[in-house]
Amino acid sequence: MHSMIQKTFAVLLTIAGIAVPTQSASHEPVKEQAIPTPILTQTIPAALKTFSLSSKKAAKDLNSSNISMNLATKGSEHSLPTYTTWLSPTASVVNIRTQPSTDTPVLKEAHAGESYPVISQKGSWYEVAVSPHQTGWIAGWVANTQSFHAADSLGTILNKDNVPLFAGPGNEFKMIRRLSKNTIVQPLFVSGDYVKVLDQQEQSGWIPIDSANFGKETVDSLWFADAATPVQASPDGLLAGKTIVIDPGHGGKDTGAIGKIQPIDEKDINLAVAKVLQQKLLAAGAHVIMTRTTDVFVSLADRVKISNENHADAFISIHQNMYPDNPQMHGTMTYYYESQQSHILAHDIEEQALKQFSFDKSNDTANLRTGVNNDELYVLHHNTQPATLVEGLFLSNPKELADSVTTDYQEKMADSIYKGVVQFLLK
Ligand SMILES: [Zn+2]
Repeated sequence: MHSMIQKTFAVLLTIAGIAVPTQSASHEPVKEQAIPTPILTQTIPAALKTFSLSSKKAAKDLNSSNISMNLATKGSEHSLPTYTTWLSPTASVVNIRTQPSTDTPVLKEAHAGESYPVISQKGSWYEVAVSPHQTGWIAGWVANTQSFHAADSLGTILNKDNVPLFAGPGNEFKMIRRLSKNTIVQPLFVSGDYVKVLDQQEQSGWIPIDSANFGKETVDSLWFADAATPVQASPDGLLAGKTIVIDPGHGGKDTGAIGKIQPIDEKDINLAVAKVLQQKLLAAGAHVIMTRTTDVFVSLADRVKISNENHADAFISIHQNMYPDNPQMHGTMTYYYESQQSHILAHDIEEQALKQFSFDKSNDTANLRTGVNNDELYVLHHNTQPATLVEGLFLSNPKELADSVTTDYQEKMADSIYKGVVQFLLK
């Protein structure tokens, strides 16, 4: 997370898709020397609008330009006109940078046809959410913005007085100032017991989640911020003495599957689920080894080596599925290769996932939900330890794509794996 979010309230209220900055002192290099092709009538796919800064509930009314967002929380939401702005590259490839300057490193590339939710603006630069965990900056002169009016905003009224606004998600961070009761804030991100909000003084910060009745719907609709620091392993827990390797699939240059209607990278969802799982296993006393804890590239051979050399009692590779040919495909699939132990591990996790997610099995002939024997998956094929690969959901399914960034899904998926591992190891 970056702490660069500023003046967003004013931006959200004023730019409204018309005030794209035109001044550009320098030119942001456009990669691949493509001739910039302005997207004149950029249409944001309907499902895109259901994400992040806006409520999932907006999905119902997406066919009109007037989006109605009504949150389920009774009476606590304030009707505050606002705009949600999306930004699209006007060239085939443009840079997303770490800071609002061409001198700063390139985080990743944005491509024509993609749209990113705008978080804030600084001069000619726009801060956009590039994943559930990260924001970056795109120069305004290589992109178009488009806004839509939200009849009812996500504005939430604080129900406590003297609410501290911290610089980070916890009271160990610097306190910026205090907000008085009845202040309207706009929730952006959730991390543990804190919510990142914008206030009307054009300032963002973190407040305790109990400072307002955000409601489960609101919290679920927000992007999931980085998980808190892992807890320490408890020496006499349920899984004491067990070694578990968690392998968050992909990372770094290898993004994994990418949500087509929303720029969500599989690698980020995998890591988010892995971190929740890590904490659960640590709390149960297990020795937990992560093949990666950040957005870095790790080879498949190295991932397997970590499992084999540490004699893992269980190796769990976490992925999300993709099957664009059939957007109906949904649900969790678990894979194993050959060994009886791996088969049982995969089966136990699948069984728990079936309980947690209550899939509609009757209407589900396309979807295999038992452990699948697969000899093509490297991390399974070359593993000497009980190993499984879990595909949590389908990023090609619009509903599951929306679910993938929510704390609700990430928690349930991690919990399914956790319970499956416990079931397997305590047999
Ligand atoms: Zn994957």
